[in-house]
Amino acid sequence: MPGTLLVISGPSGAGKTSICEELLRLIPNSEWSVSCTTRKLRGHEVDGQDYHFISRQRFDEMARNDEFLETAEYLNEWYGTPRKPVEAAIAAGRTIILEIDVQGAAQIATRMPKSIRIFILPPTMETLKARLEGRQTESEALQARRLQKADGEIAFARNSGCYQHFITNDTIGNSVASILSILNAKPA
Ligand code: 5GP
Repeated sequence: MPGTLLVISGPSGAGKTSICEELLRLIPNSEWSVSCTTRKLRGHEVDGQDYHFISRQRFDEMARNDEFLETAEYLNEWYGTPRKPVEAAIAAGRTIILEIDVQGAAQIATRMPKSIRIFILPPTMETLKARLEGRQTESEALQARRLQKADGEIAFARNSGCYQHFITNDTIGNSVASILSILNAKPA
């Protein structure tokens, strides 16, 4: 049986990374899609684990060779999902989780319509602001840009029609439980 492609999106600070970590722990035969990015490594991130940190030149070369399933520019940096690991996971009946932005999710919705696409909302914009400010690894200017971007992302996500589900992340436990029930209800 083919596997499942699970797309999780949401503004920075909405809690998607914690949700994805918990999903990986709870879903048997699940894996994380390691994206390529041209942005700089942040805080405790590990190259090859959180992202493949690559040059703009290498990114362009991979894009030309059709090595990405989707790509997007976000705050002047490029992000892309390597195609091969996703195709291999699906062929092997595994669940692969992509934590990508709304532009990427729109491309996935067209190319892989059977994917499950979920948008994570912060409980309130105040919570989002507090979470972003708690990030010691980024400048205040960058935090402010991410917050400003969040409004637009939420509006775009709602209007795009590319998400089947919106989940308000009041607690990680509740959000994870909601996602697991969505996966269990998925037709074979
Ligand atoms: P960050 O720089 O905070 O790690 O990520 C910025 C945004 O890029 C987040 O919304 C994240 O989900 C998204 N992102 C990360 N990897 C990819 C990717 O491969 N493709 C797309 N489209 N977005 C990505």
